[in-house]
Amino acid sequence: MDRVERRQVIVIGGGLSGLYAALQLKEAGKSVCVLEARDRVGGLTLSPHSPVLGRRVDLGGQWVSQQHRRIYALIQRYQVPLVRQFATGERVCIQEDQVFRGPMGTIPGMNAQDWQSYGQAFETLYKVFDDLPANPWEGELAARLDRMTYDSWVREILPPGMARNALLRLPGAYYGVLPEEVSALELIQKLRGCGGPRFMSDVETGGMSEHMWGSQLVSEGMAGDLQGDVFLQAAARRVDWSTAGVAVQTDAGRFEAERVIFACAPAMIQQVGFAPALPAARRLLHQRFPNGRNTKAVAVYDRPFWRDKGLNGHVISTSGALTAALDISGADPDRGVMIALFSGKAALRVDPLDVPARRQMVLGVLAQALGAEALAPQEFHLQVWADEDWSGGASSPFLVPGQLTQYGESLRAPTGPFHWAGTHMATEYRGYMEGALAAGEAAARQILETPKA
Ligand SMILES: Cc1cc2nc3c(=O)[nH]c(=O)nc-3n(C[C@H](O)[C@H](O)[C@H](O)COP(=O)(O)OP(=O)(O)OC[C@H]3O[C@@H](n4cnc5c(N)ncnc54)[C@H](O)[C@@H]3O)c2cc1C
Repeated sequence: MDRVERRQVIVIGGGLSGLYAALQLKEAGKSVCVLEARDRVGGLTLSPHSPVLGRRVDLGGQWVSQQHRRIYALIQRYQVPLVRQFATGERVCIQEDQVFRGPMGTIPGMNAQDWQSYGQAFETLYKVFDDLPANPWEGELAARLDRMTYDSWVREILPPGMARNALLRLPGAYYGVLPEEVSALELIQKLRGCGGPRFMSDVETGGMSEHMWGSQLVSEGMAGDLQGDVFLQAAARRVDWSTAGVAVQTDAGRFEAERVIFACAPAMIQQVGFAPALPAARRLLHQRFPNGRNTKAVAVYDRPFWRDKGLNGHVISTSGALTAALDISGADPDRGVMIALFSGKAALRVDPLDVPARRQMVLGVLAQALGAEALAPQEFHLQVWADEDWSGGASSPFLVPGQLTQYGESLRAPTGPFHWAGTHMATEYRGYMEGALAAGEAAARQILETPKA
């Protein structure tokens, strides 16, 4: 490939984080380009066209809250359809082979004693939020929590039962992570930085209160504003660097710059060759920052048949049948649209199956919750993010025990000409679209505020 392009800054990764970083730099007068491995922008936001609905549906990030101010502003800027979460009616909880229904804000089928211990479990967690210092890697409590997995911490503080199960659900539900594989400190500070699980699951005013119809439109809008500076099918393969600058060898040619922002998952950075090698500490950090498991389905029906039964389509499970299902049809729809999420342990039920069996499994769970009509959608989409070469899992990379206290502040510090973005680098709303934008903004700011040595 003969092409050679030169800019002041190269951004590797055309997801929300990379595109936003590039926009900030461009608006500040820097010459910049984005290198994206896939033939599309958006990364973990993927919105295929639905022929039945005549609009986009979402197989990745979708929910926002007004507290997510950056993504909210971009939604307005690019006029992405934003819809209030439908929540009128009862929700459903699957417990093994039984199905219970009840009001939102409760866990249908849970007895009063379990409900009380469920509340206490959350109190315990929120107390740790308060006890951890602002820099979550500092102090004795942090050191203790980082020595254990989240699973060990929960087992230490709670006896077997519903309360324990409720806390053990959180890593899978919010980040696609198994409780046995993530540092207790990492998980707890991540939840705290996202507003805590009560806010995160709130469909009234919190993290689940509004959703887009086509979140990839945000990335497409930013790519449009970056005009000819986004290169698709341009996977970064090798990076040669010295004090003179950086040269990135890609599938679409050679790109040279003074500095580079990596806005992709550490597991993806590990696949890039560096000459000379990155410092050992940084390379080893990338090995200890893996991805979770997140699988999402969209099923389109001729009408939202569950609403006729007084159900709002909100499905949860205390036995791991799925992570959650939600009605994203909007207030007054002519079709019914359900999404179903299988994250963490629940993903392990779907991901190993072949394609027809995956569909059967997902629709079977929806039918158990909502009725046999769920077995025959007009349209069905399924995305297993662990199957994707350029994501290698989702929804956001997480640190294994012992890393956060070791790296602390240096996690986000530049390494020579390299800056680190991506939602996993955010201090607030890590793992969210908002976190991706915040981390992109922070990396761009580092470049603007630190003149090259
Ligand atoms: C099923 C699911 C549901 C979710 N739900 C929500 C939600 O409701 N609300 C919310 O806020 N968030 C949600 N998220 C999370 C949200 O989508 C992500 O946090 C966010 O999109 C991450 O953006 P990013 O730019 O940091 O990373 P990514 O989107 O992963 O972007 C990284 C980009 O880098 C590219 N890349 C990788 N390696 C290379 C290379 N070598 N060279 C060039 N390019 C490369 C990739 O192709 C990719 O485009 C969800 C995610 C999933 C998967």
